Amino acid sequence: MLDTTARILKIQELKATAMMGTPTYLLNMADVARSRLGLDPAELTIEKITCAGEPGASIPGTKQRLEKAWGAKVFDHAGATEIGAWSYECAAQPGGLHVNEGLFLVEIEDLVTGQTITTPGRPGKMIITAFDRLAQPCLRFDSKDIIEWDSAPCPCGRTYRLIRGGVQGRADDITKVKGVLLSPSAIEAVVRRCAALSDEYEVVVERITGQDRITLRVEPCAGQECLGDEVLGRLKDELRLETNLGYIIEVHQPGSLTRYEGKARRFKDLRQQH
Ligand SMILES: [Zn+2]
Repeated sequence: MLDTTARILKIQELKATAMMGTPTYLLNMADVARSRLGLDPAELTIEKITCAGEPGASIPGTKQRLEKAWGAKVFDHAGATEIGAWSYECAAQPGGLHVNEGLFLVEIEDLVTGQTITTPGRPGKMIITAFDRLAQPCLRFDSKDIIEWDSAPCPCGRTYRLIRGGVQGRADDITKVKGVLLSPSAIEAVVRRCAALSDEYEVVVERITGQDRITLRVEPCAGQECLGDEVLGRLKDELRLETNLGYIIEVHQPGSLTRYEGKARRFKDLRQQH
Protein backbone atom coordinates (compact mmCIF):
# COMPACT_ATOMS: atom_id res chain seq x y z
CA MET A 1 0.00 0.00 0.00
CA LEU A 2 1.27 3.47 -0.85
CA ASP A 3 1.85 6.07 1.81
CA THR A 4 0.50 9.60 1.44
CA THR A 5 3.63 11.03 -0.19
CA ALA A 6 3.77 8.17 -2.71
CA ARG A 7 0.08 8.68 -3.54
CA ILE A 8 0.64 12.37 -4.28
CA LEU A 9 3.62 11.56 -6.51
CA LYS A 10 1.51 8.93 -8.29
CA ILE A 11 -1.20 11.54 -8.95
CA GLN A 12 1.49 13.78 -10.41
CA GLU A 13 3.04 10.99 -12.52
CA LEU A 14 -0.28 9.69 -13.93
CA LYS A 15 -1.85 13.15 -14.22
CA ALA A 16 -4.88 11.76 -12.40
CA THR A 17 -8.03 13.86 -12.81
CA ALA A 18 -10.29 12.25 -10.18
CA MET A 19 -9.95 10.71 -6.75
CA MET A 20 -12.01 9.51 -3.81
CA GLY A 21 -11.43 9.54 -0.07
CA THR A 22 -12.67 10.74 3.29
CA PRO A 23 -12.71 14.56 3.61
CA THR A 24 -10.30 14.23 6.52
CA TYR A 25 -7.74 12.28 4.56
CA LEU A 26 -7.91 14.46 1.45
CA LEU A 27 -7.37 17.63 3.51
CA ASN A 28 -4.46 15.92 5.23
CA MET A 29 -3.07 14.85 1.87
CA ALA A 30 -3.17 18.46 0.61
CA ASP A 31 -1.27 19.49 3.72
CA VAL A 32 1.38 16.79 3.14
CA ALA A 33 1.76 17.93 -0.50
CA ARG A 34 2.49 21.47 0.67
CA SER A 35 4.61 20.76 3.74
CA ARG A 36 6.62 17.69 2.71
CA LEU A 37 6.80 17.96 -1.07
CA GLY A 38 6.57 21.72 -1.55
CA LEU A 39 3.75 21.17 -4.04
CA ASP A 40 0.58 23.20 -4.34
CA PRO A 41 -2.13 20.51 -4.63
CA ALA A 42 -4.30 22.94 -6.63
CA GLU A 43 -1.58 22.89 -9.33
CA LEU A 44 -1.93 19.11 -9.72
CA THR A 45 -4.37 17.72 -12.28
CA ILE A 46 -7.25 16.65 -9.99
CA GLU A 47 -10.56 18.02 -11.33
CA LYS A 48 -13.18 15.97 -9.49
CA ILE A 49 -13.27 14.50 -6.00
CA THR A 50 -15.87 12.19 -4.51
CA CYS A 51 -15.95 12.02 -0.73
CA ALA A 52 -17.45 9.34 1.47
CA GLY A 53 -17.13 7.89 4.95
CA GLU A 54 -17.74 11.14 6.85
CA PRO A 55 -20.29 13.98 6.63
CA GLY A 56 -17.67 16.62 5.62
CA ALA A 57 -18.30 17.04 1.89
CA SER A 58 -21.85 18.25 2.61
CA ILE A 59 -20.66 20.67 5.32
CA PRO A 60 -20.14 23.94 3.37
CA GLY A 61 -16.93 25.02 5.17
CA THR A 62 -15.28 21.61 4.68
CA LYS A 63 -16.35 21.36 1.04
CA GLN A 64 -14.91 24.82 0.32
CA ARG A 65 -11.62 23.95 2.00
CA LEU A 66 -11.32 20.79 -0.12
CA GLU A 67 -12.24 22.60 -3.35
CA LYS A 68 -9.76 25.40 -2.67
CA ALA A 69 -6.95 23.05 -1.63
CA TRP A 70 -7.23 20.80 -4.69
CA GLY A 71 -8.65 23.28 -7.23
CA ALA A 72 -11.34 20.67 -7.91
CA LYS A 73 -15.09 20.17 -7.74
CA VAL A 74 -16.08 18.11 -4.71
CA PHE A 75 -19.07 15.75 -4.61
CA ASP A 76 -20.46 14.01 -1.57
CA HIS A 77 -21.56 10.39 -1.55
CA ALA A 78 -23.00 8.16 1.16
CA GLY A 79 -23.25 4.40 1.15
CA ALA A 80 -22.53 1.48 3.44
CA THR A 81 -20.95 -1.94 3.06
CA GLU A 82 -24.11 -3.68 4.29
CA ILE A 83 -26.40 -1.76 1.91
CA GLY A 84 -24.61 -0.40 -1.13
CA ALA A 85 -24.33 3.06 -2.67
CA TRP A 86 -27.73 4.52 -1.74
CA SER A 87 -27.12 8.22 -2.45
CA TYR A 88 -25.31 10.67 -4.69
CA GLU A 89 -24.80 14.38 -5.17
CA CYS A 90 -25.87 15.58 -8.63
CA ALA A 91 -24.13 18.25 -10.71
CA ALA A 92 -26.64 20.92 -9.54
CA GLN A 93 -25.25 20.52 -5.99
CA PRO A 94 -28.42 21.61 -4.19
CA GLY A 95 -26.87 21.29 -0.71
CA GLY A 96 -27.83 17.68 -0.20
CA LEU A 97 -27.85 14.19 -1.65
CA HIS A 98 -30.39 12.42 -3.84
CA VAL A 99 -31.57 9.06 -2.50
CA ASN A 100 -31.31 6.43 -5.24
CA GLU A 101 -35.00 5.52 -4.87
CA GLY A 102 -34.93 3.18 -7.85
CA LEU A 103 -32.96 0.70 -5.76
CA PHE A 104 -33.56 1.70 -2.14
CA LEU A 105 -36.46 2.53 0.16
CA VAL A 106 -35.33 5.07 2.72
CA GLU A 107 -37.36 5.86 5.83
CA ILE A 108 -36.46 8.29 8.62
CA GLU A 109 -37.28 7.35 12.21
CA ASP A 110 -37.54 9.72 15.15
CA LEU A 111 -34.62 9.03 17.52
CA VAL A 112 -36.79 9.11 20.64
CA THR A 113 -40.25 7.89 19.62
CA GLY A 114 -39.28 5.60 16.72
CA GLN A 115 -42.10 7.08 14.62
CA THR A 116 -41.58 7.54 10.89
CA ILE A 117 -40.83 11.14 9.91
CA THR A 118 -42.24 12.26 6.57
CA THR A 119 -42.03 16.04 6.97
CA PRO A 120 -38.92 17.91 5.80
CA GLY A 121 -36.52 19.51 8.26
CA ARG A 122 -36.83 16.97 11.11
CA PRO A 123 -33.70 14.84 11.54
CA GLY A 124 -33.89 11.18 12.51
CA LYS A 125 -32.08 7.95 11.80
CA MET A 126 -32.20 6.26 8.44
CA ILE A 127 -33.93 2.88 8.07
CA ILE A 128 -33.17 1.44 4.66
CA THR A 129 -34.37 -1.42 2.46
CA ALA A 130 -32.40 -2.48 -0.61
CA PHE A 131 -34.39 -3.86 -3.56
CA ASP A 132 -31.50 -5.52 -5.38
CA ARG A 133 -29.77 -7.57 -2.69
CA LEU A 134 -30.29 -11.28 -3.21
CA ALA A 135 -27.51 -13.07 -1.32
CA GLN A 136 -27.71 -10.70 1.63
CA PRO A 137 -31.22 -9.26 1.87
CA CYS A 138 -31.43 -5.93 3.61
CA LEU A 139 -34.88 -5.17 5.01
CA ARG A 140 -35.43 -2.08 7.15
CA PHE A 141 -31.78 -2.00 8.17
CA ASP A 142 -31.01 0.48 10.95
CA SER A 143 -28.05 2.35 9.47
CA LYS A 144 -27.78 4.82 12.39
CA ASP A 145 -27.06 7.59 9.87
CA ILE A 146 -28.77 10.87 10.81
CA ILE A 147 -30.58 12.46 7.86
CA GLU A 148 -33.54 14.73 7.14
CA TRP A 149 -35.76 15.24 4.10
CA ASP A 150 -35.48 18.38 1.99
CA SER A 151 -38.68 19.96 0.73
CA ALA A 152 -37.41 21.72 -2.39
CA PRO A 153 -37.32 19.97 -5.77
CA CYS A 154 -33.80 19.73 -7.21
CA PRO A 155 -32.90 22.13 -10.05
CA CYS A 156 -31.34 19.17 -11.91
CA GLY A 157 -34.87 17.86 -12.64
CA ARG A 158 -34.51 14.48 -10.96
CA THR A 159 -37.47 13.54 -8.78
CA TYR A 160 -35.60 11.21 -6.42
CA ARG A 161 -35.95 12.85 -3.00
CA LEU A 162 -33.16 14.93 -1.49
CA ILE A 163 -31.74 14.67 2.00
CA ARG A 164 -30.69 18.10 3.21
CA GLY A 165 -27.02 18.49 4.13
CA GLY A 166 -26.23 14.83 3.36
CA VAL A 167 -25.59 12.47 6.26
CA GLN A 168 -25.35 14.72 9.30
CA GLY A 169 -23.71 12.22 11.62
CA ARG A 170 -24.28 8.90 13.36
CA ALA A 171 -26.96 8.20 15.94
CA ASP A 172 -24.14 6.74 18.11
CA ASP A 173 -22.25 10.05 18.01
CA ILE A 174 -25.14 12.24 19.05
CA THR A 175 -24.78 12.63 22.75
CA LYS A 176 -26.30 14.66 25.56
CA VAL A 177 -23.97 17.24 27.08
CA LYS A 178 -25.35 19.36 29.93
CA GLY A 179 -28.77 18.05 28.91
CA VAL A 180 -28.43 19.37 25.32
CA LEU A 181 -28.24 17.05 22.29
CA LEU A 182 -24.88 17.63 20.60
CA SER A 183 -24.00 16.54 17.08
CA PRO A 184 -20.24 16.59 16.32
CA SER A 185 -20.87 17.75 12.75
CA ALA A 186 -22.35 21.02 14.11
CA ILE A 187 -18.92 21.74 15.66
CA GLU A 188 -17.19 20.85 12.38
CA ALA A 189 -19.43 23.31 10.51
CA VAL A 190 -18.29 26.17 12.78
CA VAL A 191 -14.58 25.27 12.87
CA ARG A 192 -14.25 24.76 9.12
CA ARG A 193 -15.79 28.09 8.18
CA CYS A 194 -13.29 29.96 10.37
CA ALA A 195 -10.47 30.86 7.95
CA ALA A 196 -7.92 31.51 10.74
CA LEU A 197 -8.01 27.84 11.83
CA SER A 198 -6.17 24.89 10.29
CA ASP A 199 -8.17 21.90 8.97
CA GLU A 200 -7.61 19.84 12.14
CA TYR A 201 -9.39 20.05 15.50
CA GLU A 202 -10.41 17.82 18.40
CA VAL A 203 -13.31 17.82 20.85
CA VAL A 204 -13.13 16.28 24.33
CA VAL A 205 -16.13 15.89 26.62
CA GLU A 206 -15.36 15.16 30.28
CA ARG A 207 -17.26 15.08 33.54
CA ILE A 208 -15.46 16.99 36.24
CA THR A 209 -16.97 17.06 39.74
CA GLY A 210 -20.35 16.14 38.31
CA GLN A 211 -20.30 18.82 35.58
CA ASP A 212 -19.92 18.19 31.85
CA ARG A 213 -17.10 20.14 30.24
CA ILE A 214 -16.32 20.44 26.52
CA THR A 215 -12.87 21.36 25.33
CA LEU A 216 -12.29 22.28 21.70
CA ARG A 217 -8.65 22.01 20.61
CA VAL A 218 -7.78 24.01 17.51
CA GLU A 219 -4.66 25.08 15.62
CA PRO A 220 -3.99 28.37 13.80
CA CYS A 221 -3.26 28.03 10.08
CA ALA A 222 0.34 27.08 9.20
CA GLY A 223 2.72 30.01 9.67
CA GLN A 224 0.61 31.63 12.42
CA GLU A 225 1.65 31.27 16.06
CA CYS A 226 -1.52 32.29 17.85
CA LEU A 227 -5.14 33.30 17.43
CA GLY A 228 -6.35 36.80 18.25
CA ASP A 229 -8.97 37.46 20.96
CA GLU A 230 -11.41 38.56 18.27
CA VAL A 231 -11.17 35.19 16.46
CA LEU A 232 -11.53 33.24 19.72
CA GLY A 233 -14.50 35.36 20.82
CA ARG A 234 -16.26 34.86 17.48
CA LEU A 235 -15.55 31.13 17.57
CA LYS A 236 -17.11 30.82 21.04
CA ASP A 237 -20.16 32.87 19.99
CA GLU A 238 -20.75 30.83 16.84
CA LEU A 239 -20.35 27.54 18.73
CA ARG A 240 -22.91 28.66 21.29
CA LEU A 241 -25.28 29.79 18.55
CA GLU A 242 -24.93 26.53 16.60
CA THR A 243 -24.93 24.03 19.50
CA ASN A 244 -26.36 25.90 22.54
CA LEU A 245 -23.29 24.96 24.57
CA GLY A 246 -20.22 26.69 26.01
CA TYR A 247 -16.67 25.52 25.21
CA ILE A 248 -13.18 25.83 26.63
CA ILE A 249 -10.94 26.57 23.65
CA GLU A 250 -7.34 25.37 23.66
CA VAL A 251 -5.00 26.68 20.98
CA HIS A 252 -2.29 24.20 19.94
CA GLN A 253 0.78 24.66 17.74
CA PRO A 254 0.13 24.28 13.99
CA GLY A 255 0.57 20.63 12.98
CA SER A 256 0.49 19.26 16.55
CA LEU A 257 -3.00 17.70 16.62
CA THR A 258 -3.46 14.12 15.38
CA ARG A 259 -3.74 13.66 11.60
CA TYR A 260 -5.89 10.79 10.28
CA GLU A 261 -5.50 8.55 7.23
CA GLY A 262 -9.11 7.29 7.12
CA LYS A 263 -12.14 8.20 9.16
CA ALA A 264 -11.27 10.70 11.85
CA ARG A 265 -11.84 10.19 15.57
CA ARG A 266 -11.96 13.83 16.59
CA PHE A 267 -14.82 13.55 19.07
CA LYS A 268 -13.78 11.99 22.36
CA ASP A 269 -16.35 11.43 25.06
CA LEU A 270 -14.42 10.48 28.22
CA ARG A 271 -17.40 10.59 30.59
CA GLN A 272 -18.05 6.84 30.62
CA GLN A 273 -14.52 6.20 31.87
CA HIS A 274 -15.10 8.05 35.15
ZN1 LIG B 1 -30.28 17.01 -8.40
